[in-house]
Amino acid sequence: MKILVTGGAGFIGSHYVRTLLDGGYPGFEDAHVTVLDLLTYAGNRENLPAAHPRLTFVHGDILDRDLVTALAEGQDALVHFAAESHVDRSIRSGAAFVRTNVEGTQAVMEAALAAGTGRVVHISTDEVYGSIEEGVWDESSPLLPNSPYAASKAASDLVALAYFRTHGLPVSLTRCSNNYGPYQHPEKFIPLSVTRLLEGRPIPVYGDGGQVREWLHVDDHCRAVQRVLEAGRAGEVYNIGAGSAVTNLELAHRLAELCGAGPEMIRHVTDRKAHDRRYALDQGRIERELGHRPLTGFEAGLAQTVAWYRDNPQWWKPVVEDGERP
Ligand code: NAD
Repeated sequence: MKILVTGGAGFIGSHYVRTLLDGGYPGFEDAHVTVLDLLTYAGNRENLPAAHPRLTFVHGDILDRDLVTALAEGQDALVHFAAESHVDRSIRSGAAFVRTNVEGTQAVMEAALAAGTGRVVHISTDEVYGSIEEGVWDESSPLLPNSPYAASKAASDLVALAYFRTHGLPVSLTRCSNNYGPYQHPEKFIPLSVTRLLEGRPIPVYGDGGQVREWLHVDDHCRAVQRVLEAGRAGEVYNIGAGSAVTNLELAHRLAELCGAGPEMIRHVTDRKAHDRRYALDQGRIERELGHRPLTGFEAGLAQTVAWYRDNPQWWKPVVEDGERP
């Protein structure tokens, strides 16, 4: 089994690759993994083993069509994580998001088609559905994205599905809720808060902090991606939720407590433009069809994540010092 993973040096992609290399997915213990990653500010080669007999690392761009086409040749499967992934950056400037997420996804689907890749999984997000006051989204809910990031991911979903409908490319899509866990870039809410608190600095909370998010441990997300790769239906979308919804303000309080800080470290700042109020997923399809259920409880997962950042300042301090944190 040979698997091409785009964006495999990022937060989620690297967790998936490390788990594959550690033999964490039964039946895939011999899989050879090729990672294609541009190592943008968000990618880090150190997220992967420096050398491993079943890993090939290629530093390159998914927009380099010749390169992606050559790499896709002979692969049994392709998992497409590579993206620009931070909403705040997309609000400051959306161009890279359209380029990487939309054009890049088209290049990846085209390469998989040309190579006759047997299975393709395109990783997307619940943010494509927009914001929901009450109830939950299932996979047939309309796409109503609000941020340039979410719009570019919605467009990428439509591109991927078009390659199934037009050409029969065996691609499945996943739409997951907010991920958390080790190796997440300190620009994202949980690591931003934890690393600031560990440095004795206050943490920003947008607006009143009443935005509701469902937090999914990266390990549960990657197990779900693997199930979709193994047994998902081509042309189908799978929501991946966690069932642990909290407001950003509640989460900020929990993080402060876990870091031994008080509520005075929480500062309300001007809200993000067009900030989605609530996300909520119905994940019945992946449970029924693929038997997937999250295993990591939020309390335990959050405590383990805070401990990881506390124990690994050598991983996040250089990123923070490079100024790659808003
Ligand atoms: P990340 O920003 O940590 O990693 C993205 C990776 O893609 C980086 O290693 C980067 O170097 C690479 N990359 C960017 N542009 C590239 C290009 N042109 N060519 C090759 N590589 C390129 O992102 P993440 O949090 O790991 O997210 C992975 C995927 O999951 C993305 O598609 C994202 O939209 C989706 N997702 C993430 C979350 C979340 O909470 N983090 C939630 C839902 C969906």
